[in-house]
Amino acid sequence: MKIREQVFAELKEEISRLTAQGMRPGLAAVLVGENPASQLYVKSKIAACQELGLASWLHTPPATSSTQSMLQLVDDLNRDDNVDGILVQLPLPKQVDTKRVLQAVSPTKDVDGFHPLSLGILLSNRPGLVACTPAGCMEILRRYNIPIEGANAVVLGRSDIVGKPMALLLMHANATVTICHSKTRDLPDVVRRADIVVAAMGKAGFVQADWIKPGATVIDVGTNEVTDATDAEQLLKNFPQRLAKFRAKGKVLIGDVHPDAVFTAGAVSPVPGGVGPMTIAMLLSNTVKAAKLRRGSSSLVAGT
Ligand code: NAP
Repeated sequence: MKIREQVFAELKEEISRLTAQGMRPGLAAVLVGENPASQLYVKSKIAACQELGLASWLHTPPATSSTQSMLQLVDDLNRDDNVDGILVQLPLPKQVDTKRVLQAVSPTKDVDGFHPLSLGILLSNRPGLVACTPAGCMEILRRYNIPIEGANAVVLGRSDIVGKPMALLLMHANATVTICHSKTRDLPDVVRRADIVVAAMGKAGFVQADWIKPGATVIDVGTNEVTDATDAEQLLKNFPQRLAKFRAKGKVLIGDVHPDAVFTAGAVSPVPGGVGPMTIAMLLSNTVKAAKLRRGSSSLVAGT
């Protein structure tokens, strides 16, 4: 069974148990404007809620929304007792102060784990709501029994939503962690020392196959749409079926790691189909966790 299915099956059971106790967890999603990628992400998150029996609500304020109107909506959701988790889909329109809006989400309902308080709780290694993408990466490593303790882990990217929390989670799991960014020198050599590579840079196929230590585990967070035929031919030269699909559709989704890394690595998470689905699974898991924390269930399991 794929691990997404395992996690979903576990959550489904827990949600029906909580629902039977009159505590059906619920997620409110806020989708501002009409960004097609955001629409697609939110649609799959709501579909996942429905599949597992979570309550869900979709709020779709117009692209012209102001910071003030967004703060009002978040406040309403904070006060709504049926709502356990609030998801504000990013990016928000330019005129909206994203940091202010995210900070207005009640930390008890912060299922994206973006609130500074959630980040502080993670920093101090206490149980709380952890950002979904890094939590999903950890779930992949754990469920595939990848040894983390003592391993050299290299995280490419230092964003607040992926790179930084990822590095903290790996450190808390006793890996020796190196965080790389756009100013890192000799990046290939740093990556070559890694037993675990987590790539979250937003650059299609940037990490080359010969940077990967033979047998290393690669978690590819990147999701980059490639539409340039020359790039696609170069990236997919050893994957004729994917190349044929690109030729038919004119676009292909490529991670931050060159697809040829599968020939050097011990294991590589696929793009699409790897971190993305686990991110959604962790969002639902956080909603269940938030419901139990906020509604005072004694059965909260400590940990991420
Ligand atoms: P981000 O905020 O743009 O951060 C990118 C990071 O990569 C930055 O820290 C940047 O360094 C670093 N970087 C850029 N170019 C580099 C280079 N040449 N060498 C080394 N480091 C470099 O991106 P993000 O939000 O963390 O997302 C990263 C990727 O993950 C994107 O492709 C995004 O689409 C994907 N993503 C996927 C999921 C999922 O569910 N699958 C979820 C979230 C994000 P500086 O700090 O120095 O600028």
